[in-house]
Amino acid sequence: QADKAKELRGKPGALKDGTLLPLLANVGKPEDADPALEYGAEGVGLFRSEFLFLGNEQAPGVKEQTEAYAKLLSRFPGKKVVIRMLDAGADKPLPFLTPEDEPNPALGLRGLRTLKEHMQVMTDQLEALAAADAQTDADLWVMMPMVADEHEAEYFVKLGKSMGLKKVGVMAEVPSIAFMADKVAKVADFVSIGTNDLTQYTLAADRTLGSVANYQTAWHPAVLRAIKMIADAGNANGMPVGVCGEAAADPDLAVVLAGIGVNSLSMTPVALDDVRAELAKFTMEEAKEKAAKALNGDFYNPTKWNFEESVEH
Ligand code: PEP
Ligand code: MG
Repeated sequence: QADKAKELRGKPGALKDGTLLPLLANVGKPEDADPALEYGAEGVGLFRSEFLFLGNEQAPGVKEQTEAYAKLLSRFPGKKVVIRMLDAGADKPLPFLTPEDEPNPALGLRGLRTLKEHMQVMTDQLEALAAADAQTDADLWVMMPMVADEHEAEYFVKLGKSMGLKKVGVMAEVPSIAFMADKVAKVADFVSIGTNDLTQYTLAADRTLGSVANYQTAWHPAVLRAIKMIADAGNANGMPVGVCGEAAADPDLAVVLAGIGVNSLSMTPVALDDVRAELAKFTMEEAKEKAAKALNGDFYNPTKWNFEESVEH
């Protein structure tokens, strides 16, 4: 089994019938390029740029950021590397950017909403990304987290392009963007679905709260239907749609996502072997059958409420 996994590492992610499904790595800092390459990632699908900002009193300068991005990009010549803009706020608070008095931080300033309040931080990061891109040979894609609709998507895509970036896209994490996916597909170069936040917001259950942890599963058909809306819009408009949340690292769910029509999966590097092996067991036809069942809720275990206990006699 382990030998078979290693043998598959050199091959691209694909279904049994040869349909390609690129498998990328989620990376937290430039040094994480090592495990990504070791496990055969075909590129980086999510580089969380927060590490550069965490623990600092202020945002790092353009030069420092350029060096960090160039360090990562130089490890993936000719390969796709998706770098996410700073996602400050909610579960990733930054003292110098995030207000302390929000009653519901997950519904407050985070991602794009934070950066719009701190334009210099946003433009410094874009400038550094464009500079690093010019110094290296990777295929750089840049995306913004917490984008709510096509207006915010268009705003960021225009800003990114005006600063010299070539591929600019958005994350799908707020359910509203799924409802507007047809319009988003007309303005964004790509969409990457963050299933951790998309699940949190679809089910209105704080991802950091143990008391509502039962809701935090992308197997919920409501989450899968939101993903399908985005994948359908992407496929109808020739816009790539990837998944970079935890859902992509679940081998069974990866097959379902392939069947729903997602074009790439990005995950923690150690999950790549199992996902690659599972995908190779199904044809696209079979993956679509599985997806239809999943969208119908067949694989979802609903929370069992004990009504007897909760009724007052
Ligand atoms: C997500 O929300 O699924 C995601 C990939 O981003 P993060 O977990 O960093 O919020
Ligand atoms: Mg997220």
